Amino acid sequence: MRNTTEILGVQFDVLTMEEAVGKVMGFFDGKGNRFICTPNPEIVMEAQKDSQLMGILKAADLVVPDGIGIVWASKFTGKRIKERVAGYDLAMNVLKEMAVEGKTAYFFGGAPGVAASAAKKLMKDHPGLKIIGTRNGYFSAKEEKEIISEIKRLSPDMLFVGLGAPKQEKWIYENLRFTGAKVAIGIGGSFDVMAGNLKRAPKIYQKLGLEWFYRLIKQPSRWKRMMRLPVFVIKVLVNKK
Ligand code: UDP
Repeated sequence: MRNTTEILGVQFDVLTMEEAVGKVMGFFDGKGNRFICTPNPEIVMEAQKDSQLMGILKAADLVVPDGIGIVWASKFTGKRIKERVAGYDLAMNVLKEMAVEGKTAYFFGGAPGVAASAAKKLMKDHPGLKIIGTRNGYFSAKEEKEIISEIKRLSPDMLFVGLGAPKQEKWIYENLRFTGAKVAIGIGGSFDVMAGNLKRAPKIYQKLGLEWFYRLIKQPSRWKRMMRLPVFVIKVLVNKK
């Protein structure tokens, strides 16, 4: 049984990073395909008007808070989520465990060459890690079929999809069962960070819950999507009443 708490219609798992990693590793032993979503407040807001996305978040096997705003909002639900479980950090922690257990990964997404250089760098840093295939995230309908059969041929234990949210969640929902992968996770721009092309916010920003602010300064083009943040805060407070 999952221990979840609802934030604006989305059920979030109430667990720590360590517990989340344990849960993902447990998925490898189970039957069927499992998928993990890591929504931030922007995605929760998007799901308010995108019923397909809301349905996907409801169908996910593990939903953890990528944004500090979700951790904050959980305070008003009666079941407090202790910490942020950022998609990038969860992916890195799971990959480290996969290296120990000899599980295989496939990296799908990002600009040409990015997933491949992320894979190369990670395998160098983590001996034992098996990233058995990579593919960039720009494709035609015909190429998409080829990508799916290539992943199926390799049948990795876990598929990491970095197409940006919510594109990656929709892609996983539609295609995971055809890929032969046991587990999938959408990780946004994480390949860019893993490849060393994009820096995470300094630790102090992360500690203070200000990573979103750092990203806004670095990529001002994100301001439009971030305009959803104040609306999220207001909705959570109104809901509380
Ligand atoms: N991307 C992709 N295919 C697309 C659109 C985007 O592979 O059709 C990749 C893009 O190269 C980047 C990531 O998806 O690596 C999106 O990163 P972003 O930080 O915008 O996503 P978020 O983490 O906010 O979901």
